[in-house]
This record gives sequence, structure tokens and C-alpha cells, in this order.
Amino acid sequence: MDKIWVTRSSMPQLTEYIEEIAPIFESHWLSNAGAKHEELTLQLKKYLGIKGLSLVVNGHEALELALQNLNLPKGGEIITTPYTFHSTTHAIVRSGFTPVFCDIDPDTCTINTNQLETLITPKTVAIVPVHVYGNICNNAEIQAIADRYGIKVLYDAAHAFGEKIAYEISGRPITNQSNEKNVIWKSVAELGDVSCFSFHATKVFHTIEGGAVCCKDSNFTDKIAVLRDFGIVNPDTVTDISPNAKMNEFSAAMGLCNLRHLAEEISKRKCVDNRYRKSLIDVNGIRLNPIQKHVQSNYAYFPIFIEKEKYGESRDELFKRLYSLNIFARKYFYPLVTDLDCYKNDYDSEATPIAKRISQEVLTIPMYADLSEEDQHRVISAIRRDI
Ligand SMILES: *Cc1c(COP(=O)(O)O)cnc(C)c1O
Repeated sequence: MDKIWVTRSSMPQLTEYIEEIAPIFESHWLSNAGAKHEELTLQLKKYLGIKGLSLVVNGHEALELALQNLNLPKGGEIITTPYTFHSTTHAIVRSGFTPVFCDIDPDTCTINTNQLETLITPKTVAIVPVHVYGNICNNAEIQAIADRYGIKVLYDAAHAFGEKIAYEISGRPITNQSNEKNVIWKSVAELGDVSCFSFHATKVFHTIEGGAVCCKDSNFTDKIAVLRDFGIVNPDTVTDISPNAKMNEFSAAMGLCNLRHLAEEISKRKCVDNRYRKSLIDVNGIRLNPIQKHVQSNYAYFPIFIEKEKYGESRDELFKRLYSLNIFARKYFYPLVTDLDCYKNDYDSEATPIAKRISQEVLTIPMYADLSEEDQHRVISAIRRDI
């Protein structure tokens, strides 16, 4: 039986990529804001509908550079969640801040806005929510809290590339009473003070390795452009003690190719998502990720949540059985950040009981644009125990 991986990076045709990189072989300009880098910057600004965008070498550096440049008082507390890829937490700690962990909403797995405000102290300087699996955070409530206390919001939008959120024309968030015709769609990149994306090979849109800092204020992203290059303003002027976080031309060329096919990729993912939903909706003990009606999704992941008593197998038992069938699912996110060796002595994961429980129930199953119907059928049959 062929192996079915949890994801498979999308790639253009080889000929298309060769055509895209040919000019690099002529110019010998390989990095430092070359032609491909500048073209990709322009195209992404348009695609994401955002004025300020700076490309960087990966999503993690996007988070670090943004956090370190928001003029947040050093040593302050940043409220975030433990239900994320630990890059989010590492970026906070490596930037000199103290993470304070808020529990998650059990449906969307994003920051729990009922608890958020109770964690604010005089030391709180920012909130770093994560759009987990592409589920958009309760941004209206988060912004209202941030505004009340005069603190910044930086979104880890690594899972949410290209998503859009519906608002009433008045700018108010959509409710069940809203008239569907009177909505405007806003880019996820506009949320908060800053949104950071990852363009890692496993993400819906990728540049092999890469990322971007997005902001409505292009002065901020202009500053990031200096910070990603050792703080160099010009050959005689260095203003910041900053690392090297530039994206190279070959990565940018991969991004230009992938962006061309992105709409098709997302629509194929949507088909995969729909087939899973239809086939798994009635399985006793398996809960699916909710559909957010006010969001144009990118179908980044397909998490399922297993309740052992009803399903008859624990998450770990199902994981192992799939593994034995050459189906490689992923416990994403498990362990919780607060249970990792580098954090567990300082934090108690029992303090966020919902996140703890979800991390023990979750399994992300194979999801990518080119997952064949046949392979998907194998995954579904295994989960339904038809085979
Ligand atoms: C992928 C990811 C990152 C890190 O991005 P890299 O490009 O791999 O550095 C950060 N946060 C989340 C939630 C991610 O999924």
C-alpha cells in the first residue's frame, strides 16, 4: 500500500519554474530584494489586499521582527495560547517578553475571548492570537479588549493565508441577523496591528521557506525591510542590531509560480474538505472542525477530534492504526507548548484545560490539493473502520 502523507507540498511544473528562474541566471542577482522578490511583494500586496507587506526568510522571523519592532515595553506580558506551533511562543520569549497562556475556544481552537480579559494585568503589552487551522479568531472581541486597555494585537496568521472575513457595510462583524447581501469582505492580513504569515513548504501558499509581515501602515513594513537586512538603511547607515532574514530570489520565484495556481489549489482543497465532511459527519465519537460561515476558508488542514468513549479508540490508538495502514496523520497540536521540555518547568498545562483536552483528542488527517479520491477513500474507510 502506498504511503499517504499528511500533506504534500504543491509545486509548479518544472518547466514553469525553470522559466521563472532563467532571468536569475542572467542577472546573477540571487538575494537582497532582487527582481523576483520585488515582483512577489507587489503581487502579494494585491492578492492579500494590504498596503504594507515585507517578505522575510520564514514565518518565525516574521513574528520575531514584528514583535521586536512594535515598541512594546521590554519584559512585558503577552497573552497567547498554548495551542499552537511553538514558533509563536518561542518568538515571544526570544523577543524578551513573558507569555501568559489563555485557554482556547473548544470549537475553533482559537484564543478564548471569555477568559482573555481576566488575564490582563498592568504588565500586559500585547495579545498574540493564532488563527488555528485557518479558523479566524474572534477578532472583533479581541480588538475591543485591546482598545480598552491600549495594547497591541499581533496575529500569527501562518494558517490563514488568503482568507477573507465578512463584515457588515457599517464595519460591524457579521451576526446571524445580518443581511447576507450587505457584506464586505476584508482580508485577514488587515486584522490587528500586524499579521504574520508563513510560506513554509507545508503551508497552503509557499516559497519553500518564507514568510511575510503585513500591516495596514506601510511605514511599519518599510522598517521591517531594514530590520530583515542587518539594520542596513544604506551602505553607510546601520540603525538596528538586527539579524539576516531576507528571502532569496529562488524562493520568490517559487512563490510567483505557486501564486499563479493558488485559486485552483484552494478549490481542490475545498473538494477534499467537502468529501471528508460528507463521509465523516455521522461517525460516532468524531467531531469535525466547524465551518465559519463568515469566512472564505483556505482549507489548510482537516483536523478531527476523537472522543474515545464514543468512537471506541483513543486518538493515539487511531493514529497507530492509520500508521499501520501507511496513512500518516499528525497530532497537531500535541503536546501543548506548555508541556514541551523547554516550557514545562515554568508553566502548568492544566491551567488551560480545554487546550489540554483538545490536544489529546486531535488528529489532522491527510489534506492537500492533489490528494486523489482513491487515497482519500482509503483514509475515510480506515477512520470509519470499513477496512
Ligand atoms: C508554520 C508556522 C509558524 C512558523 O513558520 P515558519 O515559516 O516555519 O518559520 C508559526 N506559527 C504557526 C502557527 C505555524 O503553523
